[in-house]
Amino acid sequence: MIVRTRVAPSPTGDPHVGTAYVALVNYCFAKQHGGRFLLRIEDTDRTRSTAASEAVILEALHWLGLAWDEGPDIGGPHGPYRQSERLEIYARYARELLENGAAFRCFCTPERLDAMRAEQIRNKRPPAYDGRCLPLTQEEIAANEAAGIPPVVRLRVPREGSVTIDDLLRGPIHFDWNNVDMQVLVKSDGWPTYHLANVVDDHLMEITHVMRGEEWLSSAPKHWLLYRAFGWQMPQIAHLPLLRNADKSKLSKRKNPTGILFYRRMGYLPEALANFLGLFSVPPLDGEEMMDLAAMVERFDLKHISLGGPVFDVKKLDWLNGRYLREKLDVKAFVERVRVWAGGEDVIDRIAALAQQRIERLSDLGPLCAFLFAGRVEITADQLRAGKLDDESLRKAFVLALAIFDALPEWEFDAIAAGVARIAEIVGAKVRDVVRPFYVAVTGSPQSLPLYDSMVLLGRDLVRERLRVALERLGGATGAETERWKKLLEADAAA
Ligand code: GLU
Repeated sequence: MIVRTRVAPSPTGDPHVGTAYVALVNYCFAKQHGGRFLLRIEDTDRTRSTAASEAVILEALHWLGLAWDEGPDIGGPHGPYRQSERLEIYARYARELLENGAAFRCFCTPERLDAMRAEQIRNKRPPAYDGRCLPLTQEEIAANEAAGIPPVVRLRVPREGSVTIDDLLRGPIHFDWNNVDMQVLVKSDGWPTYHLANVVDDHLMEITHVMRGEEWLSSAPKHWLLYRAFGWQMPQIAHLPLLRNADKSKLSKRKNPTGILFYRRMGYLPEALANFLGLFSVPPLDGEEMMDLAAMVERFDLKHISLGGPVFDVKKLDWLNGRYLREKLDVKAFVERVRVWAGGEDVIDRIAALAQQRIERLSDLGPLCAFLFAGRVEITADQLRAGKLDDESLRKAFVLALAIFDALPEWEFDAIAAGVARIAEIVGAKVRDVVRPFYVAVTGSPQSLPLYDSMVLLGRDLVRERLRVALERLGGATGAETERWKKLLEADAAA
């Protein structure tokens, strides 16, 4: 048997360090066994998937040095490797499930499903499909279809009994069927959900080992049913513990930067970040934790993964990165890294063009441009408060900015400017008054290089982090405030 593993990110945002960690585990496992590592793009969520996100995911994984043997950019014998290009395949397998009774058509309206869920919650039962469409006869189905009601396809789940699934990390896990929902497999627009596409692809792409985040653990029994219905062998599976903050809470961007490209922008070396992520699944050799990819492939061991949750300890990453900078690069290589990190001549030209208009002596360049080469900038709440906005408006403006900027399909000047104008409108202030605290947050000073150009140059990840720090300086926002303020965006979009 040739070991085949994959990483299967959904292109719905910036690449997450968790994806890098999962990719690294799959890479090391495949390579250690002389196997192949695949990249598959799971873009069946049409409203959230973007080509731009796919491009940065590929870029980030490349940067980390995790080369795949088959994937959407390089092809391979089991392509296409992008799910949106495989719709006919899923349709064929969905028909097979309907024919052999493993799935059924469901015509329930969204209103009925909402009412059903509300009732279940009232009765303190977990929300789950109640099986209303299970007993529909062929005639009823035909009548619904003739009436033009678009069905979804749902998985038929036994109402009694249980299944035991072996997890390579956790051992046998027991699932009672009555806790497993009758998952939608095909949406009413004909697109498959993750579950159907994932199982069909893992089989057709001959994946032997599925190693994925533990958030997918509850999907395992559904996938088991699908493998059984198709008569296929289920790959071996392992659910990897999620990365955690030092306080053991789930790593989330509200508390910490989670984007791979943030770490690149901060000036971590890819080999240091890969090494750091590898330490969760690779034991050190004689106490030495510094290892290149080849050494990690050799020493990788699933048993080394602690289920308690790997802690993303930035101090450790700093320490390791410092060692890489000092110990692994001669001066020439170091200079070359700095050059690449700074963005090369094109970026220097762009910065110079912005700065030229704002200096009196060349020696003003250093202080004026330093923020473009820094990580976080030193700011105080008083600096942020010095303008016209009251505290609540300030905090609201930063919460809105984080949400709006995250959702921008492209990180570019006009979109950023439009975002800031929208924030001004929502908080009921002049754009000028909103721009001021953003200047402070992003550049460290109320006057600097043009704000939106600077934001483009800094990149979304670093801007996000500086805005997050600014919000923190102002005391942060509670979960309820964040929700309430984000709702203003929906209302605003609907208007
Ligand atoms: N598309 C899923 C994700 O984004 C993949 C989960 C899996 O590996 O099965 O995490």
